[in-house]
Amino acid sequence: MAFDLDEIFIKDLDISFAFEIGMRTILMFAFVLLLLRLSGKKGVRQLSIFEVAIIIALGSAAGDPMFDKESAILPSLLVFGFILLFYRIITYIASKSEKFESVLEGNAIYIIEDGMFTLHKGEHTFAKDEFFAEMRVQGIEHTGQVKTAILETNGQISFFFYEDDDVKPGLPVLPKPYSKKSREITEPGLYACTSCAHVQQLKAPGDCDRCNEDEWVKSEDSKRIR
Ligand SMILES: [Zn+2]
Repeated sequence: MAFDLDEIFIKDLDISFAFEIGMRTILMFAFVLLLLRLSGKKGVRQLSIFEVAIIIALGSAAGDPMFDKESAILPSLLVFGFILLFYRIITYIASKSEKFESVLEGNAIYIIEDGMFTLHKGEHTFAKDEFFAEMRVQGIEHTGQVKTAILETNGQISFFFYEDDDVKPGLPVLPKPYSKKSREITEPGLYACTSCAHVQQLKAPGDCDRCNEDEWVKSEDSKRIR
C-alpha cells in the first residue's frame, strides 16, 4: 500500500485557492462571531451540555466552507440561522419549565453534606480525583472544612464552608497525605474513609460504619486559612 502524499497534503490546493481559503475563513469567522453575539451569551466560562452540543454543530457548519471548494457559504449561514432559532426556542422553553430544563441540562448534585460525601445510589456521578483537584484549587485541605459542596449543571462546584470553630476531622485531599491510604491500621487514631469521608476511631483494620468500605487515611482537622 502506497500513500499518495500529494493527495493527502495538497490535492487541489494552488495559490488562487489558498487566497480563496483566506477569504472564506475571514468571512466564516465573522459570521461565527456575529452568531455568538446574537445568541445572547455573555461569555463562555463554563458551558452546559446543551451549549456544548450547539458549539459542536456550529463548528462543523462553520468549518467546511472555510476550505472545501464544494461548500458554499449560504447553506452554512442557513444552518447558523436554524441553530440560533433552535437555541432561542429551547432556552425559552427551559426558562418556562423547570422540568424541561433539568432534562436538558441535568440537575445540581450534592457532593458533600456535613463534611462527608453524599452517598449516591448506583454508579459515581463524578470523578473523585477531579473533585479533589477542585477542592485544592479552592484552598481546601480536607473534607471536614466543607459543610456542603454542590456540583452545578455547568460543571462548576459551589463550596459552603464550616465556621472555624465547627471544622471537624476530615479526609485529606492533598496528594501526599492522601497517598498514605491503606487497609492496614497499625496505630490507633482517627481515620477518614477514602470512599465516603466518614471519620471514625480505629484500633485495627475495619469497615466504615457509614458505607462499609475498608480503606482509610489518617484524618486531618486543620482550620481553613482565608
Ligand atoms: Zn465510608
